[in-house]
Amino acid sequence: MRVSFEFFPPRTAQGRTNLTRTAARLRSGSPEFFSVTYGAGGSTRDRTSEAVLTLREAGFNTAPHLSWGEDTAAAIEHRIADYLRMGVNRIVALRGDIPAGTGSPSGVRYAQELVRQIRQSFGDDIHIEVGCYPEVHPDAPSPDADVAFLKHKVDAGANSCITQYFYNPDSYFYFVERCRKQGIEVPIVAGIMPITNYEGLTRFSDNCGAEIPRWIRLRLLAHKDDPESLRAFGADVVTSLCARLLDGGAPGLHFYTLNKAEPTEAILRSLNLMQEAPPVRSVAET
Ligand code: FAD
Repeated sequence: MRVSFEFFPPRTAQGRTNLTRTAARLRSGSPEFFSVTYGAGGSTRDRTSEAVLTLREAGFNTAPHLSWGEDTAAAIEHRIADYLRMGVNRIVALRGDIPAGTGSPSGVRYAQELVRQIRQSFGDDIHIEVGCYPEVHPDAPSPDADVAFLKHKVDAGANSCITQYFYNPDSYFYFVERCRKQGIEVPIVAGIMPITNYEGLTRFSDNCGAEIPRWIRLRLLAHKDDPESLRAFGADVVTSLCARLLDGGAPGLHFYTLNKAEPTEAILRSLNLMQEAPPVRSVAET
């Protein structure tokens, strides 16, 4: 079973220092890698690279997210070559979110093209992760087409898939079954979003097409003005979700950490997936 943690790139040097601290805490969850997101249309191009470099220099396996945005193939290759020099050997290849204000997705290049480009230019040196959507990507013409397009990404050379987050485990199991029937055989790792607040989560979920089941939404609403009880409820719900996923054969968990250690730590601890630091021994004991 593999665990990975996703970060977004900080804006400041202090933010990067905090990120290294967060990564150091989460190291006790034995992650296979930390990933760093890439802003819509390449808006965090340099910040993503800086965060990846910071994490690499601190000794963490790190996987940058990447999408075409407005870049040329040469610019993309150059960026990947830089990453390889940093010791990166894994990339999360995406179409990317469409930048706000640009309207329809016309002219956007699908993730499949990026996967193909990476494979053609860099052979098998890079492990490629791609995104997938148990509750169906909002732009997909149909659920079947969404799975068919995922198959194209895998056929183009993706090694494994990470799902959008979801709170209904059956949506994941049903999706994996459909993927297997379509001949997608690579691991499908479950994306997990810890629950820490009501407004942010509901707004983001409505945008990305992730469903919050009604019973969870109502309970969150009831805890809305009591952050501590909301977090405790959220940790319970997400821990049970992870336990069901792992019992049902999910090959791994990818946490959308939002650069915070505590919510993810709480879940991993409840799942007994956190190695506790050895107790500090006093001088008298030694
Ligand atoms: P694609 O696989 O290209 O698919 C996009 C849509 O187009 C789908 O609806 C698909 O069904 C459809 N499609 C695919 N191929 C075709 C085709 N040939 N013809 C017609 N339709 C087609 N966004 C960011 O901006 N930055 C990030 O760092 C980031 N990280 C993410 C990490 C994970 C694990 C996930 C799951 C998502 C992430 N996202 C990120 C969000 C993602 O970029 C958006 O969901 C985006 O809208 C789709 O990206 P994709 O790579 O899955 O797209």
